[in-house]
Parts: sequence; C-alpha cells; structure tokens
Amino acid sequence: MSAAFAALILLVGSSALAGSAASKTTISGSGSTIQVAGIGYLDARAFFTRFGLKAAWIERGQSMRLQSSVARIEIEDDKRDVNVNGLRVLMGEPAVERDGTLYISRIDAEKLFLPLLSPSSVASPAPPALRVIAIDAGHGGQDTGTQNKAFKLDEKTFTLDVAMRLRALLVQQGYKVIMTRTDDRFVELPRRAEIANKAGADLFISIHFNAVAGSPTVRGSETYVMTPQYQRSTSSPKRDASDNVRNPGNLNDPWNALLGYHMHNQVIDSLRGEDRGFKRARFAVLRLVNSPAVLIEAGYLSNNDEARRIATPAYRAALAEALAQGVRAYGLAITTTKTR
Ligand SMILES: [Zn+2]
Repeated sequence: MSAAFAALILLVGSSALAGSAASKTTISGSGSTIQVAGIGYLDARAFFTRFGLKAAWIERGQSMRLQSSVARIEIEDDKRDVNVNGLRVLMGEPAVERDGTLYISRIDAEKLFLPLLSPSSVASPAPPALRVIAIDAGHGGQDTGTQNKAFKLDEKTFTLDVAMRLRALLVQQGYKVIMTRTDDRFVELPRRAEIANKAGADLFISIHFNAVAGSPTVRGSETYVMTPQYQRSTSSPKRDASDNVRNPGNLNDPWNALLGYHMHNQVIDSLRGEDRGFKRARFAVLRLVNSPAVLIEAGYLSNNDEARRIATPAYRAALAEALAQGVRAYGLAITTTKTR
C-alpha cells in the first residue's frame, strides 16, 4: 500500500471514527495503567480498541499489530520506533511489556495517537482555522546552512527555492502566505517565529536539507515537530528538567503531531527517499511559534547521490508539491474538529 493511500484511509477513518470516540477524560479506557520510572503508561490494546483497531501479537510479549480497515500500527517492546501505516514514527517513550501486556506512555497516547486516530476527540486546545500559512526557508545570507563542497551546493539556496515554489502552490489554493525571507538574507531564528506570530499564522512550515560529517552514505528525509512538554526529544537519551518547561510551541502538541504525520507521509511518498522518521526536537522555531509547526529535513547534501537530486528543479518541485499536499491532508483532518 502506498503511504499516500494509507494516509487517505487514515483520514477517512478519523472522521468515521470521530462519532464513536469514547469519553475525552478517560484516555486509558478499561485497560490497566502502570508507572515506569515516574512515567505513566497505559494498556496499548485497550487504548487502540477504543478507536476500532484490533490487537494481535506479531510475536507474543514482544511486538503487537493494531489494525482496522483504515489504519495499521505496529509497536514493539522497548522501542520508541513505531510503524504507522508504513511510516516510521518515533514515540517519546519506548513501549513497555509487563506480565503479557504491552503498554505505551500516556503522553504518546494523548498527544500522538489520539490526534491521528480521532482529531475530534482531542479535548483541547482546538486547532486554529487554516487561513494564514508561514513558510520558513532555512538559513540565508552568511548562514549557508549545510553544504556539499565538492558540488558547491548550499542548503540556503535550495530551502529558498522550495519555499518560493510552495508559496505559489498555497496561494493558488487560496491561503494567505507569509514568508520569513524571500531573498538571500540572514534572519535570526527568534525573528522567524516572531514574523509568523505577528502575522497571526495558523501554520508554520520550516524547510531544510540535512548533512552529516563523515557519513556519506546517510540519506533520506525526516520530519520534526516540537517535543511535547514532559517528554524528551528523539535525540535525547534521558529526560531532564528542561523537558518540563512549557514553551509556546507546546500549546499545539496534538496538532503538531497531526501536521507532522501528514507532512512526513507526503514527503516520503513523493520523494521515495529513505524514511528517517517523524521525530521530536525543541528547535528554536518550533519552540517559539504559536501555531502548529513542522520542520522538514528533505534529504542529505552530504550524500552525493541525494545532493545531485536536490540540485534538480524536478526534485524541489516534487518536494514543494508534497508539502502542499501535506497541508491539504492536515486541513482535511481538522475539518472534523471545531477550530479556534
Ligand atoms: Zn538547515
């Protein structure tokens, strides 16, 4: 099944299931809850059953498949990686097996899976109505971003190109579009968030390309949204006190998840690159923006193959189209909810 088709049916499922979603106050349903190292966990089978997914062990006590006609999720003991309709998605905490029951953290249930499976069951806040979209072309001016020196390629050139393409597509779709930059200039990270916030943006899309020193074979795309409050970022091995801070970006934790999933789905499906995962990080722009926000790392300039592709207008046009499709999918998903 293609990722796009999977997302479409997940969407259909979300509206079909919206009416049957149980109480907004008892997330755990009838299943048991446990605490592991101070973190609340709930019975995965009981949670997903409430949204019409049937649970079956792939390997007893180790990995579980949750499936309905509209969604398929695979969860594994001691792993943060889950497979959602064929996409790699990173939970905040690993799944835990105890006495033959598989548990997921309550925050992952509430702030990741609930908005994906049943947006209308998210108690609060309502997502903003989608009218104004801020596009953030990463880097600029003296900040070149990542580079492929052999090919003389700068990240800042390609982020701006994709941002301009995306602007044209979103304007065509009737959105008001705000840009954090439209030419080759340096813009501080807090200033980027401020531009979006001052314009009353309902959505924020930051465009980047990746690089890693000394690992030329690493390639693929990843999608980031703000790390939910009380969770550690994907790259953090342990929780620390800063995880408890409530940042402006946390106002939209559930909607960030819904947005990130749909954007990642479209980017992976369209670019056909390696799926490096839908992840969480407290990047400055994600932390400071008042609207749902997403940051896309759409390939590695440090991988020569991928750098050659990124340097083609066809790749960047496909990326812009995928981002526009992601906005469309997110917009459709929130039509089942009351907007603010
Ligand atoms: Zn970048």
